Amino acid sequence: MPNITPFPICSLCNKPVSLETSRADEYGKAVHEGCYLLKVSAKRVPTVPKT
Ligand SMILES: [Zn+2]
Repeated sequence: MPNITPFPICSLCNKPVSLETSRADEYGKAVHEGCYLLKVSAKRVPTVPKT
């Protein structure tokens, strides 16, 4: 029996994305809404430049 999930794989955490939590990132890839928010929020976090 093939181990194929009907759900797309989240490109951020590599886990199946259920339709309820699926979301497309800016590249059109399926991601979890939570993963997407984490990614977006991580982008917004300003990096402290080394002085
Ligand atoms: Zn995910």
